[in-house]
Amino acid sequence: MQENKDRICIRELEVYAHHGVFAEETRLGQKFFVNADLSMQLRKAGTEDDLSLSTDYGQVCQTIYHFLTEHTYRLLEAAAEHLAERLLLDFPGIRELTLEIRKPAAPIPLPVSSVSVSIARGWKRAVIACGSNMGEKERYLQEAIDKIAGDIKCRLLCSADQIVTKPYGGVEQDEFVNGAFLIETLYEPEELLTFLNRLEAEAGRERVIRWGPRTLDLDIIFYENRVVRSARLTIPHPDMQNRIFVLAPLAQIVPEWVHPLYQKTVTQLLEGLQEKEMPGETAKGSSAAV
Ligand code: ATP
Ligand code: MG
Ligand code: MG
Repeated sequence: MQENKDRICIRELEVYAHHGVFAEETRLGQKFFVNADLSMQLRKAGTEDDLSLSTDYGQVCQTIYHFLTEHTYRLLEAAAEHLAERLLLDFPGIRELTLEIRKPAAPIPLPVSSVSVSIARGWKRAVIACGSNMGEKERYLQEAIDKIAGDIKCRLLCSADQIVTKPYGGVEQDEFVNGAFLIETLYEPEELLTFLNRLEAEAGRERVIRWGPRTLDLDIIFYENRVVRSARLTIPHPDMQNRIFVLAPLAQIVPEWVHPLYQKTVTQLLEGLQEKEMPGETAKGSSAAV
């Protein structure tokens, strides 16, 4: 996909507000200046000359103004963080933004003309695989998808058909129902994992044996094209390339998504694995549609 460089830019919006670490700053207030670059698709609004197809920058300025005057933060970082989130939630056309809040009268006893904080935030795409092999499996998966779609910081873009698959990892247990879905989210990867772990806990997930029976498993497969390796989280999911029950649903919703380490598409990974597991057979996987 070609990178979209369309922007609406707001420069030097002046707001008198009360952010700061020192008591005088929150009591007396001072001037702040805001710069915002809003990344969005402007082609349609441009060709059709129609404001309803764009984002009203007057309203964006009003939102910035009211947000900064109605809240008080100690740090510019906090003001910027919360304001960025508000703009991304209130204006669906804004995919990404950079936001700078400048404080010309910052209390620094040195000749400095201003200090500012600048951040870049946006909606990020993530692919999640889900599975269940206890109780009402389809219901657990559907409830998880509904909760994700209902979360303010997530938008469900599409989900794959659920498939029935054989257990993986050598533990004797009931067959699985698996699926996958594509979301846009304001959560960073670790925050997304925390959110998904909460949904697993709400579904009564207990971790007794590795790869054992579970009411609900929600794994992050991809997050943009990022590679994450932390104590809690590995992205892309480290075993996805070996699992037909992950790759088959993914091939339905994101067939062209390129694995950032293997540099292969989901379709290529699936075909390679099917060829390895069932040489000569057609692409039907180890699963049957529900
Ligand atoms: P597998 O990850 O092999 O599919 P599992 O899903 O059954 O096994 P869990 O018990 O759900 O494993 O998770 C074990 C740990 O894996 C979690 O505590 C989590 O911190 C970690 N983890 C690492 N990377 C991921 C990821 N991409 N998505 C979800 N959990 C992850
Ligand atoms: Mg798993
Ligand atoms: Mg898991």
